Amino acid sequence: MTQPFYEQHDPRFLGCVVPYSPMEEIATGCRWTEGPVWFADHGCLLFSDIPNERILRWTPGAGVSVFRQPSGFANGHTRDRQGRLVTCEHGGRRVTRTEADGTVTVLADSWDGRRLNSPNDVVVKSDGSVWFTDPTYGILSDYEGYRAEPEQAARHVFRLDPVSGALAPVVSDFVQPNGLCFSPDESLLYIAESGASHDPAVPPVIRRFRVTDRGGLSGGEVFATIDCGLPDGIRCDMAGNLWSSAGDGVHVFAPDGALLGKIRVPQRVANLTFGGPRRNRLFIAATSSVYLVYVAATGAQVP
Ligand code: MG
Repeated sequence: MTQPFYEQHDPRFLGCVVPYSPMEEIATGCRWTEGPVWFADHGCLLFSDIPNERILRWTPGAGVSVFRQPSGFANGHTRDRQGRLVTCEHGGRRVTRTEADGTVTVLADSWDGRRLNSPNDVVVKSDGSVWFTDPTYGILSDYEGYRAEPEQAARHVFRLDPVSGALAPVVSDFVQPNGLCFSPDESLLYIAESGASHDPAVPPVIRRFRVTDRGGLSGGEVFATIDCGLPDGIRCDMAGNLWSSAGDGVHVFAPDGALLGKIRVPQRVANLTFGGPRRNRLFIAATSSVYLVYVAATGAQVP
């Protein structure tokens, strides 16, 4: 256990964190951790170690074990409303769903007759629609996938319709769309722009969209700018605060966009999720490790 540095920028930050809560490194020895997802019904966390092509499982008291290897360079995860694991895979350039019996169903691997780039992160709305980002990180080199030329003309954010199964882009003007999450009432969708990873001219911002009745998006204004590194995975808590990965830790923003504070983490953060029986434990995927810290907030995502 170590004591993280809670960097307060706004008094409201004290409603989000427990300032004396220590940070525990629950996993290490990975190359690039990503895609943490909590399974309340199994009492465990799954997360990706992308370059090592594995999905690991952490169980309190039992530690880390292998859930799936090879994982197809799995990256982001979520669960649908039936509790099934939904996975972005760089290797197969696809989004899959793991059924209750363990078989894997492909949800999406192409659009407009061309292969996807490398799906990165995914969320499922309460109506069953699957929303995911498709940047090129998994095909840029052989480190997190297989090097290849993009077939898509843009790096889209896609929506998979739950009734028709049709896939359609909902946003196409990101340089590299990455993490995404809905506000607690699902009226807003936040999407992280991580294009600064390869082009410093791209602002490291999180944009906010309104979700329309027909399943589209409007707006898209800049909600927040990350002042250290860039945003990758993001999550909302029940109060509507947005928790973002960043170069120096986790940044917490109020619904009005104000930076409330930071939880400083020893390594660069790629993603995070809430978990535990009361969804008040924050799991932080940070480079070679996963950290756990108890917070005062409650995660918004269900299940
Ligand atoms: Mg990501």
